[in-house]
Amino acid sequence: MSPSPSPTPDPLRPSLDEAIAIVRAGGVVAMPTETVYGLAADARNADAVAKVFALKERPLDHPLIVHLASAADIGLWAASVPETARRFAEAAWPGPLTLVLAACDDVPRQITGGQDTVALRVPDHALALQLIQGAGGALVAPSANRFGRLSPSRPEHVLEGFGDAPPPVLDGGPCRVGIESTVVFVDDAGWQVLRPGHWTAEALARIAGAPPRAAGSAAPRTPGQLASHYAPRTPLLLFADRAALCAAANEEDAVLLLGERARPDNEGDGRLTVPPPRCIALPADPQAAATALYDLLHQLDAAGARYILAELPPDTPAWQAVRDRLTRAATPA
Ligand code: AMP
Ligand code: MG
Repeated sequence: MSPSPSPTPDPLRPSLDEAIAIVRAGGVVAMPTETVYGLAADARNADAVAKVFALKERPLDHPLIVHLASAADIGLWAASVPETARRFAEAAWPGPLTLVLAACDDVPRQITGGQDTVALRVPDHALALQLIQGAGGALVAPSANRFGRLSPSRPEHVLEGFGDAPPPVLDGGPCRVGIESTVVFVDDAGWQVLRPGHWTAEALARIAGAPPRAAGSAAPRTPGQLASHYAPRTPLLLFADRAALCAAANEEDAVLLLGERARPDNEGDGRLTVPPPRCIALPADPQAAATALYDLLHQLDAAGARYILAELPPDTPAWQAVRDRLTRAATPA
């Protein structure tokens, strides 16, 4: 049998070595992480970082998270590392927790949104860690989507999200966590969650041995935390009450219901007239729901519906991250 011809190299699907070469040459590659795919570029290369802002169409004052290969590098970026920050890094890294700390003087203000704080994280993904290590040790990697749109939790989402000119994607399969990292600000006076995520305030309080500072106390500006963000193209409406959602839905809509009650035949939801595949269940478990959220929203967004009607999970600590993303995805009333 003659050997099968080797596949034609696909410039949009680079190998790890090719991705490293692209980033080392000042280019941009979509990088898998455990949270979502990020647009990776060398954090110390101003031209490369400028390409990330341009590709995303992201406002220049929105700071970027610096992704490190090891917690040992934290001192290259943070001017001081409070004890609480050390504990957070020890407990959560590699993983979906971003620390916002006072920045060293030489940290490019291009990546901090002009502020004197820098956001740092070690992602929990073998390919990401190898890319970071191979490409200089510190990569910015904001979500690999156009500004304001749904984040990508699969390679296909990246390729579809940039239309005619997608970036090359280092394929690491679907993201395990599925939503963006928890962002926490830490200084000598305490800590404060700036963006909810996988690590809840309750879990962080146990690690810190102290509750978060009161809301409204001194914290850095958090540009990028906009009321409308992570949004599908189809207008999304939220319902805290399932009966109201069922009453409002019609055949032209797509529906995201919470939990196993969203059976394919909508049995038990007598008034709901939306058939599958435009009626989808968000898992009843908060972590599983976070993992699935963007993928399900991408599916519903592609369905050509008039509206996406989504059931809002309960207002409990475990659901904060998913509620946060759904609320920002919703069309302002
Ligand atoms: P992402 O868009 O997922 O990469 O996350 C970046 C977000 O982290 C920003 O939109 C801010 O909300 C937050 N962030 C990053 N750097 C800083 C910083 N230096 N100070 C305050 N918040 C930051
Ligand atoms: Mg983003």
